[in-house]
Amino acid sequence: MAAVELKGLTKRYGQTTAVVDVSLRIEHGQLVCLLGPSGCGKTTTLRLIAGFIEPSAGEIVVGGKVLSSPQRTVPPEGRNMSMIFQSYALWPHMTVAENVAYGLKIRKLDRAVIDAKLKAILSTAHLEALADRYPGELSGGQQQRVSLARALVVEPETLLLDEPLSNLDANLREEMRFEIRRLHDQYRYTTVYVTHDQAEAMTTADLIAVMNHGKVEQLGPPEEIYGRP
Ligand code: ADP
Ligand code: ADP
Repeated sequence: MAAVELKGLTKRYGQTTAVVDVSLRIEHGQLVCLLGPSGCGKTTTLRLIAGFIEPSAGEIVVGGKVLSSPQRTVPPEGRNMSMIFQSYALWPHMTVAENVAYGLKIRKLDRAVIDAKLKAILSTAHLEALADRYPGELSGGQQQRVSLARALVVEPETLLLDEPLSNLDANLREEMRFEIRRLHDQYRYTTVYVTHDQAEAMTTADLIAVMNHGKVEQLGPPEEIYGRP
């Protein structure tokens, strides 16, 4: 059974059809990049998967359960997914540790369990030395690592990333590409990663879906789409 399956997914906004009959199978632990130019429907596809918007036609099936259809959409909080935005969206008044632990605290886990999970993820994301700082005291790359750690610590079934590196400068972007791949190799969450940057998709993806005008035009592993580097 596929981890996430998009079946004939279509989303219309008035006269604009943002996503046109997209079908895609994502296997457990796979990292799939939705790649394509601005306006091709990547973010709309991701927001459909997250449940922020409802499809005009088609279905989203996760773990064999229909989460989205024109008849019925399970709200975002009823899906076991974490989403990361380009803007990081960290709480400015909380430290790094508090930001990362937030999702565990609202799940009312045991203090000891929270501490253990927090310690592990801070170590993995190389954030131990920054645990007591506030987001305003961090660089863009550091903030993005916090945002990744915060998404991963709750152990979601599915991780959704929307242009996670677009606010970083070129050097950091490159470093973070490898960082994301490293974290993925360690945690193996089923991941949908939206980017317009071909190099980002090449470095991180198991599978690339090239989108254009709302459709998936090409689908395959990076070496199949762009040739071996
Ligand atoms: P540029 O350097 O001008 O951005 P690219 O080769 O990166 O040119 O491609 C421009 C856009 O077309 C990119 O957004 C990319 O995602 C998309 N694209 C690149 N290669 C392909 C391809 N093989 N099939 C479909 N779309 C592609
Ligand atoms: P991408 O993420 O690839 O840049 P989007 O999914 O954001 O593309 O947008 C796809 C198309 O849908 C674009 O033409 C965009 O203008 C349109 N669109 C996206 N969101 C809305 C909305 N809320 N209302 C109307 N049109 C929208």
